[in-house]
Amino acid sequence: MENIGVRAKELNETIVTLRRELHAHPELEHDLPFTESVVVRELAKLGLDELKPGLGQGHGVIATLRGKKPGKVLALRADMDALPIREETGLSFASTNGNMHACGHDAHIAMLLVAAKLLADAREELAGTVRFIFQPSEETVDGALSMIASGALENPAVDEIVGLHTGNLWEGLTPGQIGWKAGPMMASTSTLTIVFEGKGGHGATPHLTVDPIVIAAETISQLQTLVAREVSPFEPAVVTIGKISGGSAHNVIAGTCELRGMIRAFNQETDAFLKRRIRATAEGVAASMRGRATVMFSGDLAAVVNDKACALKMRDIAANALGEEWVKELALPSSGAEDFAYYLAKAPGAFFYHCSTFESSEGGAECNYPHHNSKFDVNESVLWTGAAAMAAYALHWQDRN
Ligand SMILES: [Zn+2]
Ligand SMILES: [Zn+2]
Repeated sequence: MENIGVRAKELNETIVTLRRELHAHPELEHDLPFTESVVVRELAKLGLDELKPGLGQGHGVIATLRGKKPGKVLALRADMDALPIREETGLSFASTNGNMHACGHDAHIAMLLVAAKLLADAREELAGTVRFIFQPSEETVDGALSMIASGALENPAVDEIVGLHTGNLWEGLTPGQIGWKAGPMMASTSTLTIVFEGKGGHGATPHLTVDPIVIAAETISQLQTLVAREVSPFEPAVVTIGKISGGSAHNVIAGTCELRGMIRAFNQETDAFLKRRIRATAEGVAASMRGRATVMFSGDLAAVVNDKACALKMRDIAANALGEEWVKELALPSSGAEDFAYYLAKAPGAFFYHCSTFESSEGGAECNYPHHNSKFDVNESVLWTGAAAMAAYALHWQDRN
């Protein structure tokens, strides 16, 4: 195909139409029957070599396109789930079912469907095989695993995987620009639960009790010193306590108190270090105050770390397809997490950013609501650059190998 960028731009209206249809019918987690039906309906038009719905926990979809030339296998991934948020955008195609595509996954689906169309049209010059993965349940970070368990990276075995996130996750890019980065791209995450046990009693006789709320308060303060005093200033990390529960009345000293929080880091060493030190801090503080702490970690998700060669290829290929002005290196990773990390544990690849903010002439900062906000929206006029970058990558990623 002569110029995939031009062709993708011509198809922007198709992307927008699909995105609006999906946006009006948001579905949650693994329960995506309507979304799946749209994906299958559109892929069925393309004459692909394989189309398998019903994957994951029931509504994941994979499809396979074999090029006319020999080559390796690339997977392109889109996530499909929405959020339990009541939409307040006032858009003509706003959701009315109490859920909302407030993270842009509707646009991800539409962009990948059109990338699939571009690639099906370019089959004569396509080398190797492209596997399209439409994944449920990214927001609860268990969709990627369900697709991998369904064989999304097998038959044929995937050599490399690429995905994107649209929206306003990174700053400093203009609408439609492709943001790339080698190495750490998004954070690892782990959920933290600490239960403090003391000895309950009357609020007027604290000396006869062991107060777990005071132990929790002391622990929260000490945990704040881990990132400030124990992690290198050149190593980003986050420890947040988001929830504290304990006690039943103003004059009762509680028997237990629970903290819930999370850790974010960009490599396994920092993640493991923080876990070790959080455990030691909570147990040590509790013991010093005559109580007991039980520390648990759950929901572990690794950092998204881009393969350097893949990230550089994306830079070059997107610049060739779209022009240098559409590509920019991201200065910093995001402290958000993404279950794309599970694919990267199986195959090298890169996750990139598609900026779909609004310019001030289109309404200013008040248009750019954060992800997961009830007024979040994406700039539809630039969705074509995301589709073009994915399709161009599939066409050219093996040129340099
Ligand atoms: Zn999200
Ligand atoms: Zn998202």
